[in-house]
Formats: sequence, structure tokens, C-alpha cells
Amino acid sequence: MIENYETHQHDVLIIGAGGAGLRAAIAAAAAGASVGVVCKSLLGKAHTVMAEGGMAASLANLDQADSWEVHFADTMRGGQMINNWKMAELFAKEAPDRVFELERWGALFDRTPDGKIMQRAFGAHTYRRLCHVGDRTGLELIRTLQDKSVHSGIDVYMECTITRLLKDGDRVCGAFGYWREDGRFVLFRAKTIVLASGGWGRMYKVTSNSWESTGDGVAMAYEAGAELQDAEMVQFHPTGMVWPPGVRGILVTEGMRGEGGILRNSEGERFMERYDPKKLDLSSRDVVARAINSEVLAGRGSPHGGAFLEINHLPASFIKQKLPSMYEQFHALADVDITKEAIEVAPTVHYAMGGVRVEAETGATTVPGLFAAGEVAAGLHGANRLGGNSLTDLLVFGRRAGDAAAACANALSGPLYVDEWQVQEEKELLLRPFESGGKENPYLLHEELQEVMAEHAGITRDEETLQRGLRKVLDLQERTKNIEVLGSRMFNPGWHMARDDLFMLTVAKAVIRAAIARRESRGAQFRTDYPEKSEDLGRVNFAVCKTEAGMQVQPVPIPPMPPELAKILKENQ
Ligand code: FAD
Repeated sequence: MIENYETHQHDVLIIGAGGAGLRAAIAAAAAGASVGVVCKSLLGKAHTVMAEGGMAASLANLDQADSWEVHFADTMRGGQMINNWKMAELFAKEAPDRVFELERWGALFDRTPDGKIMQRAFGAHTYRRLCHVGDRTGLELIRTLQDKSVHSGIDVYMECTITRLLKDGDRVCGAFGYWREDGRFVLFRAKTIVLASGGWGRMYKVTSNSWESTGDGVAMAYEAGAELQDAEMVQFHPTGMVWPPGVRGILVTEGMRGEGGILRNSEGERFMERYDPKKLDLSSRDVVARAINSEVLAGRGSPHGGAFLEINHLPASFIKQKLPSMYEQFHALADVDITKEAIEVAPTVHYAMGGVRVEAETGATTVPGLFAAGEVAAGLHGANRLGGNSLTDLLVFGRRAGDAAAACANALSGPLYVDEWQVQEEKELLLRPFESGGKENPYLLHEELQEVMAEHAGITRDEETLQRGLRKVLDLQERTKNIEVLGSRMFNPGWHMARDDLFMLTVAKAVIRAAIARRESRGAQFRTDYPEKSEDLGRVNFAVCKTEAGMQVQPVPIPPMPPELAKILKENQ
């Protein structure tokens, strides 16, 4: 039966209403484009609202020696030198302007006694650099961008899931998806598209990520022919909640340690003195996460398999003022008063450094007309992201991608043609679970994938474990053909899960294949069979792309850093 679907048309379509998507929308609208923003949840509810600790920018409000150069050097070193250095340079230079702009648009930051924006210390940042609003910085960022964007004349399509990018020849020309409420199909025609759909943490069992982070954008870009990059670099944040089991993985902000919290093992030892005597508890996330893992494996873990984090040596009033959400979170979810007792923490999957490969200045992907910004894009953070560098990433590169997408749409001559066959193909894929005749449950399949990723692509990896993981993922992928969903498309989360499974399996394959290819340990990738860094592999990123022969992983050389940037790095050891 032929089913009609509604159609909308925009110059620039933005997929995602987190920090990156909203900042891109504001930029594209300011450039005169007609802008549509699509998001799976409600406006103001994107994953970004969960961000706690702050946004990094070298304002030098507390530490006057701070500068973009030091921020650049910290970011590169944190990323273990496989970052896109051009992105790191633009980012460090532009971050302060983006923070001031946000303030002009109404963001109410915490202040220093003399009225400047307050900044706090965070892991592996040389200086106190994170501009914050208590531990609710993401909420304030989204509130401000939402206010600004709705007054910029954009159209917002909420509770709508995009499942396929459509192409006219080489370039994107639109996107297809469904309304989450009633399952009706919807088509968006667009001259250009900005992907701002966030990360993929939900394919792991223990994660800090919201339900939205199922890697849709990365998988859709891959299917549309875009290259992915650094897929192996999955960040484990060292401090997620551990107990009770129902809350395992929920984030405990790095701000806890930034404000003076200390990690100890079951013997009361401040074990970070052994792993990073200089930076201690504020070492980079990959180092602290592995340290906690090692302590647990050595039998010095906390009762539920983590480490202790204590902040109760500081005055209760200070803790409640600086970390109100943490105080409430532990009170409500674990019946623990953090002003009185230590808490248990353990690593949790937190952030995808990898994603769609983009050009530094514009966020252009390798597919004409398709741009990407925010967590969905790769490059800035290399092998390990520093805390606080995501929120400013969203602002710096969201703006750049929005500008570039508007300019590209403006320059387009002639109409774009939407191929009905592509739409039909996606409809059939979406409807398959109602007609498959199989018995696979989409939720159980998701759980199996989460187990596989935890076991085979976790905090430490080796060839044999990864290869076995890949076989399991391929097997799960085969089984998706037999997913069965009952009922209709109305209010049917099982049906949504069925499509999410396909996205996550595509990304899982990319993560494991790239982790197999990188035969070394660097940042978030720790290979027990190759525990050292390889000089040669420090000069490449691994790109993942779709070919006739299936998914391919290729090393792509990192261009040499220009002498002026190399000098900055050297001067800021
Ligand atoms: P998101 O905010 O994830 O938004 C993605 C958007 O895309 C959503 O609107 C979603 O609905 C939409 N979307 C996804 N798929 C589809 C689809 N198929 N169709 C339509 N729409 C779709 N970083 C910092 O720098 N500082 C911090 O203090 C900090 N704290 C954090 C605390 C927590 C608990 C977590 C989980 C992360 C934290 N981060 C922090 C990381 C940071 O919040 C994220 O990296 C960032 O918010 C990602 O923003 P984004 O705009 O790229 O995507």
C-alpha cells in the first residue's frame, strides 16, 4: 500500500538540538538561511542539559598566565597528539569569544568576588579554566541557546527521529524519518544538512549517556558514504556511580575532584600518587579510569567494585554551593550524604572522541552538503577529551558548521532531486520488524550488544578479545533481520529500539575494527598486547568507510604541524 508522508523544506536542516545543533541553527539563521531543527526529544531536553562541570576557555580570570596557547597545548597533549591540530588551534583561540557571547545572550555564570566569570580546575588543564554554573552548566547553556534560537526564526520538529540521509548523486538532498508519537513518516528536503546528533554511549552497558545517544548520526553518515575517524577512541570517565545497581554509570562530575575531592582505595591509600604523582586525582581521564580499574583488579577496590571518592573533608556549605546536583543526586539515588561520607565510584562510558571525519574550518564531511559538529564529529579531542572541552567545542564548531552550511546552501544552483527509491528502501527497513516473522526481541538484542561491548571493547583490549567481539557483533547484526515488533507504529518504543539496534551495531563494528587496526596503546585505547605507544601510529588517524567490499579501515596520515604550533607545544611542556 502506498502511504503518503508529510514533507518539509529548508535551506539548512539540522539534525540535533543539543549545544552543537542549536549553535549551528543560530549561525545559519543569522546568515539568512531558512533553518529546520529536528530532534528526538523535546527542545531543551537534549543530552547536553546533563553537562555538569563547565566549559573550558582560557579567560585567565583566576590564573593570569593562562592563554589560548596553553589551552591548545593541553588539548593536544590530552589527545595524545592524534588530534586535528587545526581544530585544536581554532578551538583554543575562539573558545573565550564563544563564552562571552553566551554571556551576552543571557547565561548566568558563577562569579568571582570581583564579578568576573568564575573558573574551576579540571583534569589535565594546566590552569583553572572551566566556566561554570554550579554543576548545572549544560542546563544553562541549553537554556540560553534555546532562548536565542527560537527568536532567530527557526522551525523546530520535536520528537521526530531521522533514520536516513537522502542523496542526489554525491550530495545530500534531504532526510527521512518518523514522528515518535504515532510513527507517521516524514521527509525533509534540504540544500545542506548539519549533523549534530551526539554520541553513542548507549551501546555500552555502564554509561553516563542519555537514551538519545545511540550513534544514529554516525551510522547514517557512514551509510551515506561519509568517512568516520578515531572510532576506537571511546572515553571511560573515571567516576560514575556504582551503587545501587540501578544507577550504575550515572556521572559523578570531575568537578568533585576539581573542587578538592580525593580518590582512595580500600586500604585508604591515595593511589593516584603512584599513577600520576604530578597531577594526582586531576590526571587525564584515561589515566584515572585505568588506575581505578587496576586497583580493583589488584583487590584494593571498594565493596562494589570501584574506588572511594571523598570530599567530606571540605565544609558542608561549600559542597552544597559548588556541587548542588551531586549533593542531591547522591541523597536521592543512593541515600548518601556526600558532605558526611565518601562515595563509591567506577569508570563509566562517557564520550565518543571518534565520529564523522570533518574539515576543521567548516565541519564539512567527505559527503558534499553534509556538515557535522559536536560529539558526532571527530578530530578535536584525538585519543582523549579533556573535561570541559566538549561544551566549548559545541559552540565553536556548531557556529562554524552553521555558517558553512548556510553558505553552501546559498551557493547551490539548481534544484535537488529526491529519489523515491531511497525513501521506499528506508520505509521497508523500518517496517521489517512488523513483518519479519522472526522472534528476536529488540531490547534483548540491545542488552546483548551492551554485554559484548563491555567485554570485548572495554577499558583494556587485545587482538583476540576484539576479534571475538567482532564475530559476536556480526552475529547480532545478522539476527536483526529477525527482530519482531508487535502492535502498530503508534507509541511503540520497541519499534524505535529496532532501528536504534541497527545504528548501534554499525557503530560497534566501526569501534571494534578500528581498535583492531590500532596496534598500540594511546589515550582511551589501551591494548594489553601492545601496551606502548607506537611512533608510526602516532602519525595517523584510522578512517572507517563503506566500500563495495563492506566496512574498511584505513590509516590516514596526520599532516605535519606547522612550526609556529610546534613551538607553542614545546614552550608549554
Ligand atoms: P547532544 O546534546 O547529545 O544532542 C544530540 C541531539 O541530537 C539531541 O537533540 C537528539 O534528540 C538529537 N538526535 C540524535 N539522534 C537523532 C535522530 N536520529 N533524529 C533526530 N534527532 C536526533 N562536557 C563538557 O564539556 N563539560 C561538562 O561538564 C560535561 N558534563 C557532562 C556530564 C554528563 C552527565 C554527560 C553525559 C556528558 C557531559 N559532557 C560534558 C559531555 C557533553 O555534555 C556532550 O559531549 C555534549 O553535550 C554533546 O552535545 P551535542 O550537541 O553534540 O549532542
